[in-house]
Amino acid sequence: MRAVDVIRKKRDGGTLDRAEIEFFIAGMVRGVIPEYQVAAWLMAVYLRGFGPDETAWLTDAMVRSGARADLSDVPGPKVDKHSTGGVGDKTSLILAPLAAACGVVVPMMSGRGLGHTGGTLDKLESIPGFRTDLTLAELRAALAAVGCAMIGQTAQVAPADRTLYGLRDVTATVDHASLICASIMSKKIAEGIDALVLDVKVGRGAFMQTEADARRLAETLITTGRRAGLRVEALVTAMDAPLGRTVGNALEVVESIETLKGRGPEDLEALCVTLAARMVGLAGLAADAQEAERRVRHALRSGAGLRKLGEIIGQQGGDPRVVDEYDRLPTAPYHCVVAAETSGQVAALDADRIGRASMLLGAGRERAEDLVDAAAGIRLCAAIGDPVEVGAPVLQLHSGETARLDAALDLARRAIRVTREPPVPRPLVLGVLRADGWSPAPSPASSASSRGGGG
Ligand code: URA
Repeated sequence: MRAVDVIRKKRDGGTLDRAEIEFFIAGMVRGVIPEYQVAAWLMAVYLRGFGPDETAWLTDAMVRSGARADLSDVPGPKVDKHSTGGVGDKTSLILAPLAAACGVVVPMMSGRGLGHTGGTLDKLESIPGFRTDLTLAELRAALAAVGCAMIGQTAQVAPADRTLYGLRDVTATVDHASLICASIMSKKIAEGIDALVLDVKVGRGAFMQTEADARRLAETLITTGRRAGLRVEALVTAMDAPLGRTVGNALEVVESIETLKGRGPEDLEALCVTLAARMVGLAGLAADAQEAERRVRHALRSGAGLRKLGEIIGQQGGDPRVVDEYDRLPTAPYHCVVAAETSGQVAALDADRIGRASMLLGAGRERAEDLVDAAAGIRLCAAIGDPVEVGAPVLQLHSGETARLDAALDLARRAIRVTREPPVPRPLVLGVLRADGWSPAPSPASSASSRGGGG
């Protein structure tokens, strides 16, 4: 078999068989299929599509590209959460310690920034010393010591995703349901969990633009997870405006800590509580959804979640003093403000444009080998629905280079829409897909709108 023939078959619209997919993924991981051929194959898949069997075989080949963590000797229910990617989506940093403080064992394997969306690993690595490249032995030790570990794809676990993820990011092949499904589920199956909560984002800042596409992706993810024996639930949530009030790695770490101190924006706190409560429910640690939510709220109000975050940071080599001393995190030397051009109410803060502007500021990658500027990003000074006067600050841009501020300014300006009429609020949680089917979400976040708010 030759890589070029597999690429040609997909380029011409053929359906790959299991052996061809395995050959391609195994060859890529061994380094015998070079990245330029993988990039060409990704584009062929993107343009020609991938059927359900091809998606299942790709996921399987990616799981088997490395070791499958056996966590059966770690006591307790192991549950993770994963998002399909959003702007300002820092929920993992908040809900993982909250769920762990409630007794869930959380082996969380995340990714870096992808396209215009942020990545948990980049956020965590803005904490001085924090290591996301734990070995399997270190992962086990961290779970035994603090009940949670937040790591990336490694050379041992899901190495195929490490390569594909990096290449998709720089070849415009991110927003494809089969590639997203295989990327997420291969990591989740390989990390040795029992259950998974998925946050499938839809809207301007998400990879899925319509609710129908998001529900289809949720179904594909759930089917793939169940085939591998996982209990899986998916929430479909709005991603038209950034979540919370910050976009960019260190800025989002501070906002996450503030949220664990009970001072976070309303939308962010509500979504984190909802997702963490689902993790507690899937772990079997609560009699019903109300009790699960009560336990998570208690972990938030009592400070147990915050203390857990400090323990996780310490366990993974980071400086836990950042929890109280924010000046230990990187800060950007250059700032500028984008002001409202008319008076009225903020009707849109386009998450796609804000995500791309944040990349231009240095918070994301243009090329796989780029380093991110941990301090770069955007602070939202107003949320959807807030009244603003002409000239009032709406966005504050942060960067390490003045040229980058100039480059991002126009896009940031075009992300803002101010209208005379108040915008119609959209619920943040649009629905939940479970074993028994689809239902609109009966949760605190379903009534919280995607307006940001709070401080
Ligand atoms: N998260 C992932 O891990 N992979 C994707 O493709 C998208 C979001």
